[in-house]
Amino acid sequence: MTRYVFITGGVVSSLGKGIAAASLASLFKLRGFKVSLQKLDPYINIDPGTMSPIQHGEVFVTDDGAETDLDLGHYERFVGIRMSQDSNVTAGRVYSNVIEKERKGEYLGSTVQVIPHVTDEIKKLIIKGSKKSDIAFVEVGGTVGDIESLPFLESIRQFSLELGDKKTIFVHLTLLPFIDVTKEIKTKPTQHSVKELRSIGIQPDILLCRGKNPINQKLKNKLAMFTNVSSDAVFSSIDAKSIYDIPILFKEQKIDDYLLKKLNLKNKKLNLKPWKDYKTKVLKCRKKIKIAMIGKYVDLTDSYKSLNEALYHAGVINNRVVDITYLDSEKISKGNIKSLSSMNGILVPGGFGNRGIEGKIIAAEYARKNKIPYFGICLGMQISVIEFARNVLKLSGANSTEFNPDTKSPVVALVDEWLDSHGKNIVTDKKSMGGTMRLGAQECLVDKNSLAYKMYKKSFISERHRHRYEVNANLLNCFLETDFIFSGKSKKGNLMEIIEIKNHPWYLGCQFHPEFTSSPINGHPLFNGFVNAASKRKT
Ligand code: GLN
Repeated sequence: MTRYVFITGGVVSSLGKGIAAASLASLFKLRGFKVSLQKLDPYINIDPGTMSPIQHGEVFVTDDGAETDLDLGHYERFVGIRMSQDSNVTAGRVYSNVIEKERKGEYLGSTVQVIPHVTDEIKKLIIKGSKKSDIAFVEVGGTVGDIESLPFLESIRQFSLELGDKKTIFVHLTLLPFIDVTKEIKTKPTQHSVKELRSIGIQPDILLCRGKNPINQKLKNKLAMFTNVSSDAVFSSIDAKSIYDIPILFKEQKIDDYLLKKLNLKNKKLNLKPWKDYKTKVLKCRKKIKIAMIGKYVDLTDSYKSLNEALYHAGVINNRVVDITYLDSEKISKGNIKSLSSMNGILVPGGFGNRGIEGKIIAAEYARKNKIPYFGICLGMQISVIEFARNVLKLSGANSTEFNPDTKSPVVALVDEWLDSHGKNIVTDKKSMGGTMRLGAQECLVDKNSLAYKMYKKSFISERHRHRYEVNANLLNCFLETDFIFSGKSKKGNLMEIIEIKNHPWYLGCQFHPEFTSSPINGHPLFNGFVNAASKRKT
């Protein structure tokens, strides 16, 4: 029977609940348990697909095409298991399910209420998300005390009561602020946060205390007294040099042993070697390389979470520290582009909408002409197509119909029919914005005579998509007999997936998002190759 570990957050948001959940799950996976992870998000959006990355951070895409919270990216990277639509439950989805059932008359005349109808739906989705694992790690988004998270907290309270003793455990991640002037760590906000939890019937079993430094026994005793948590269940979650050290830091405090005991599970031997080896590798990286990321969501680096991680992974694999300079594409012009010459590589990430497009095109042109390694991802690939069409093929005003619907040379355009992740044709609904993209993992055929093949070392790959527009297959003739090649195509051959420019140290664009499948231990073939090429460039 599945055991459930619920992770809540206290005092402030952004304490790293996702990384804590992923690190705990990793310790159990490395003991040989079957684990699952799930994120409950209390906002009303059905999914984060329609939210601005500046507000919410990156939208993480799963194999089955779900647009989800970025914490699912941590889950995949730390634990190496594939997430799915069921791994992310939002209040929007819960309410939409409940309302749909109400319309179908499934509640048999009863008044539909938060308790029990919404809470029942949440409990059902928690069970579905646990996928019959030995231990399900369920992270509750938001901060305890938020009005919108109440139905979720109420649901996990009921859940725990229904499952009975030793089947569920509550972990509360909380902030212990440090007052610089008095050199004191304060426990009061945590006391209040736990009081809040207890007032709705949840007594945390474990406190994970986030702070700069580990907390001492005296402080643990004090916290224990005020929160009714046993003092040997108060642990530190300190600011780590690398997030991938956190499983080791948790293990050193034996948090996993405590969980095992509390959940009444038999001990299995833990193999921590993968994380220990990784740490050793990270410590060996000294040489820096500089990568310019030309985006428009540069004010919140969480907007590019998986990209940042993928570059980090590739850095470790190439024995380099990757130093990312985020450049606002709106501020790039022909007049100031030369500063890019000091970069080892240029990356243009995905994005939507007109803003900042011309700056990206200037950067792609600069990378092409000055033979600086260039990696264009999704929009970044479309940018390469537009740039080459305008400046080499001399198709003046060439553009994507996303940015200029009236362009005479629509080298990137909307296609009405795409394949969904199961290979079925889907027709786009142009009226609705949410969930109308080419989404999820799809197969791609890689040309054997290409840079991409050198990176992947195979002809069949599967990568995740999230976009509406495609390279216009009707204009492909224009690129014939140039250095611009289409080295990856969809299975049917009608959609362009990878582009390259020959006679360049490393110039590649892909219509998919390879960053979602990069892992700390293996990186990703394209990122590994890009960082390798970048580290060879003399600046
Ligand atoms: N805006 C482009 C499209 O919809 C690219 C999307 C992306 O970069 N994810 O096709």
